[in-house]
Amino acid sequence: MTDIKQDLAAVRSRIDDSARRAGRDPADIKLVAVSKTHPVPVLLEAIAAGANILGENKVQEAEAKIAEIGRDAARWHLIGHLQSNKARKAVQLFDVIHSVDSLELAERLERICIEEGRGELSVFVHVDLAREATKSGIGVEDLPELAAFLRGCKCLRFDGLMILPPFFDDPEATRPYFRRLREIRDELAQQGSFANGRGELSMGMSHDFEVAIEEGATVVRVGTAIFGEREYQR
Ligand SMILES: *Cc1c(COP(=O)(O)O)cnc(C)c1O
Repeated sequence: MTDIKQDLAAVRSRIDDSARRAGRDPADIKLVAVSKTHPVPVLLEAIAAGANILGENKVQEAEAKIAEIGRDAARWHLIGHLQSNKARKAVQLFDVIHSVDSLELAERLERICIEEGRGELSVFVHVDLAREATKSGIGVEDLPELAAFLRGCKCLRFDGLMILPPFFDDPEATRPYFRRLREIRDELAQQGSFANGRGELSMGMSHDFEVAIEEGATVVRVGTAIFGEREYQR
């Protein structure tokens, strides 16, 4: 059995240690507890143990969970690819969307936000640096156009960048991806692209969040190290 409270505390303390090692303030790093595939009682346990941001990758799965747990019981982050036909639901359900990866999706989200009377929606752009045909994410060459659109949005707040690098057994192998994303973030920040000034970096998962923090992550998305292995892959 996984002891969520203990695992959560262990992850939090590893986050704090890596931040200090990198000369950073641990308070600058947010932890998204990735609860995808886990059932409601497990999420409630995590919330009781202090997890205040939960990450889900499927709109429908999140909808069922949020209906039971409550929209305000935690901050809900969508971390998975968003299909355009789920955009309205996503706007209704989530506090932050990490997976904006095309101009069309951003345009649709902005239009829906206005229709739904939603004040602001915090979004991250999912950047694809590996150019893997099977993965989602926007190529760097298409980023300026999307950033320019986001800057003019009434509802969407462009708060940062997200990356999901290819999986390597050795976490060090992901370091160049994290570093490159930070450089891109810095360039965008210089151009005044981000609503929050500096721009957040959503990067690092269970096996590589420490490397990500050394490279500047401000949001880490951790599932397995908190909840144990997922019983089925979705
Ligand atoms: C599942 C998932 C995570 C968490 O992965 P773990 O290896 O279980 O920590 C993080 N980010 C995204 C986008 C995911 O889909």
